[in-house]
Amino acid sequence: MEARLAALREREKPALGFAVAGGVIAIPVILTALLQMERRSAIYVTVIIGSAALLLWQRRHLQLTRDVGLICPLCGAEQSMALPYLGRCPSCQAVLLAPSDRRPIPKSPITDGSVLRNVTGAVVLIVLLAWSLYELARVIRHR
Ligand SMILES: [Zn+2]
Repeated sequence: MEARLAALREREKPALGFAVAGGVIAIPVILTALLQMERRSAIYVTVIIGSAALLLWQRRHLQLTRDVGLICPLCGAEQSMALPYLGRCPSCQAVLLAPSDRRPIPKSPITDGSVLRNVTGAVVLIVLLAWSLYELARVIRHR
């Protein structure tokens, strides 16, 4: 199972995903700056192309998962990277790994981290959200 997970990680090529994501992010800039397209139209085009890219990426991931044999022998469901930790099929709950073959679940840095750091992070997120809403309201008012 470990070899199959490693093969899946290698064949997924995360760098390709970053390149595609960067390309999708660059689409509105290219459309508005170079092709003089209206901003709203550029956003619609970007959403359509981004959605298509996500669908294709998911289909590619499922195909790679099947190609390396990371499927449940009982129900045929694709297995995720959580398999070495959980040892169960997420679809039918069949036990696929013996308890001795499972890895310990890594501790979450959020729930097990410093309370001060978590509070600081929450305050920063709330301030950023309030600032975003303020800027959004300002942009809407000026239109
Ligand atoms: Zn299953």
